[in-house]
Amino acid sequence: MRKKVCERCAKDFNTMYRVKYKTPQEWVFLCKLCLLEVKTNNAAYRYGGTWKR
Ligand SMILES: [Zn+2]
Repeated sequence: MRKKVCERCAKDFNTMYRVKYKTPQEWVFLCKLCLLEVKTNNAAYRYGGTWKR
């Protein structure tokens, strides 16, 4: 089974969020906590879906 880890905190979670939040934009997986941090006041933020294990 494939494992995904959060791109920011490098931990793995049962539910991950596919987002873009950097420039240049690329899709990464974040946990919910990091998602809430990066989306705040971030014009580059795009949500691409939820991934469940
Ligand atoms: Zn995280």
